[in-house]
Amino acid sequence: MSQLLFSDMARGQQKIQSQQKNAKKQAGQKKKQGHDQKAAAKAALIYTCTVCRTQMPDPKTFKQHFESKHPKTPLPPELADVQA
Ligand SMILES: [Zn+2]
Repeated sequence: MSQLLFSDMARGQQKIQSQQKNAKKQAGQKKKQGHDQKAAAKAALIYTCTVCRTQMPDPKTFKQHFESKHPKTPLPPELADVQA
């Protein structure tokens, strides 16, 4: 085996390893993204107005909604600390 051939093989091997590593990395990212999207979907629309049952994605929107739609209703305690 010539030195040149060996180094070519070594490079080819490195390339394969790097491709496998990348594939593994991408699969991991895909898995993580999927999980994040799932979590985000689950986290979205979790604030339900106690008065009209409208669902909102975040406490800020909820508080703004509450203050504009139900000004006479006392603010739920979980919204007291929210900076709207
Ligand atoms: Zn409401």
